[in-house]
Amino acid sequence: MPHDAIRALQTEKLVKQVRHVYDHVPYYRDLMDKKGVSPDDIKSIDDLCKLPFLSKADLRETYPYGMLAVPLSDCVRIQSTSGTTGKRVIAYYTQHDIDLWEECCARAIVAAGGSRDDVVQVCYGYGLFTGGSGLHGGSHKVGSLTLPMSSGNTDRQIQFMMDLKATMLCCTPSYAAYIGESLRDRGYKPEDNYLKAGIFGAEPWTEEMRRDIEKSLGIKAYDIYGLTETSGPGVAFECSEQHGMHINEDHFAVEVIDPDTGEVLPEGEKGELVFTSLDKEAFPLLRYRTRDICVLTREKCPCGRTHVRMSKPLGRSDDMLIIRGVNVFPSQIETVLINEGYAPVYRIEVDRVNNSDTLDVFVELPPDRFTDTVSGIISKEKKLGGAIRTMLGISPIVHLVPPKTIERSEGKAVRVIDKRKLHD
Ligand code: ADP
Ligand code: ZN
Repeated sequence: MPHDAIRALQTEKLVKQVRHVYDHVPYYRDLMDKKGVSPDDIKSIDDLCKLPFLSKADLRETYPYGMLAVPLSDCVRIQSTSGTTGKRVIAYYTQHDIDLWEECCARAIVAAGGSRDDVVQVCYGYGLFTGGSGLHGGSHKVGSLTLPMSSGNTDRQIQFMMDLKATMLCCTPSYAAYIGESLRDRGYKPEDNYLKAGIFGAEPWTEEMRRDIEKSLGIKAYDIYGLTETSGPGVAFECSEQHGMHINEDHFAVEVIDPDTGEVLPEGEKGELVFTSLDKEAFPLLRYRTRDICVLTREKCPCGRTHVRMSKPLGRSDDMLIIRGVNVFPSQIETVLINEGYAPVYRIEVDRVNNSDTLDVFVELPPDRFTDTVSGIISKEKKLGGAIRTMLGISPIVHLVPPKTIERSEGKAVRVIDKRKLHD
């Protein structure tokens, strides 16, 4: 669809959606009234910026049903966030909302080369987390043969992957890396499995990690993005170009704002992603602030899709650590580790000792380097520490630990332990 036609469709949906929310969600009506904006002021998608923002704090305040815009009896499902950054929030769906979400996931599967001839192994967690049911529904919509594995039980994952000849794998990137490692440990080579592609998301991962997973599984690895508040995964996904994720703009209007001032930024500038659900019925959030930091581009994509593309989230604003006054994203450390030949299995510990911040990075020695002498290990720790210092501008203490001693993740990896929060 040409860009103008998308805008026209968004206008039509937004005008209706604002009226729907104003009439049925008293909490948002109050916010609009306070801002002095009424549904009549929203005549086109260009008026989006007049609406008040919503954030996770609003969802916590209105928990559980304060955002409900339809009778509860019209809802058919509840899902919840993973609670990565605090108390979980919930989302509710009508059947129409579920269909819309699954349609978005189906697009992601097709964009990664999936069809009814594929065997899609879904090992995102099933249950309240949106990863499992989202990709599961998308796979059904495509007509692929769906393996609802959920996460965990890696032996069984591998058995079914090989016996049933799974061709596509859907899970978090950290679990994909773990499955790759487990296949190798069992003596499989990358070309021994039948997988051709993987659709990985729900947590930040670097380009270096993508290459690592692609190598270990012998596949092409695609990124997928979403959040419970907008439905779940599938809000945006990579196409064959793998140069940013196309946002499903017919369902979600997107803005990038300055996180400090709330001002809408021009295309190409880095800022916080804000989504407006244009046609969800039960939980239709308008101008929801994601706290994910991104850049948008409307440059023509060679794949032919006209939907705007978002960069990989450069990090959640609340993932960022401030260590000795320096901004540090865990992804920067991941990049260095992989470039230095280590696996993306690590733990970052931050603490405060004598009023000064400390940064400890725990990394596993690859099995083939485990036989090193103590002095050999110390010099490797120093080398890695130097590379991290060059990237961040502050010195870490690197601890090389024996293989398989850092806990593997089957869902979203927890890699940062900030002990300063425990003291405050
Ligand atoms: P929680 O906010 O508790 O983690 P969700 O399970 O809804 O709850 O996760 C949504 C968040 O996960 C997004 O806001 C984003 O920070 C992160 N996320 C999802 N997909 C990706 C991705 N492909 N790359 C980086 N981060 C992602
Ligand atoms: Zn494209």
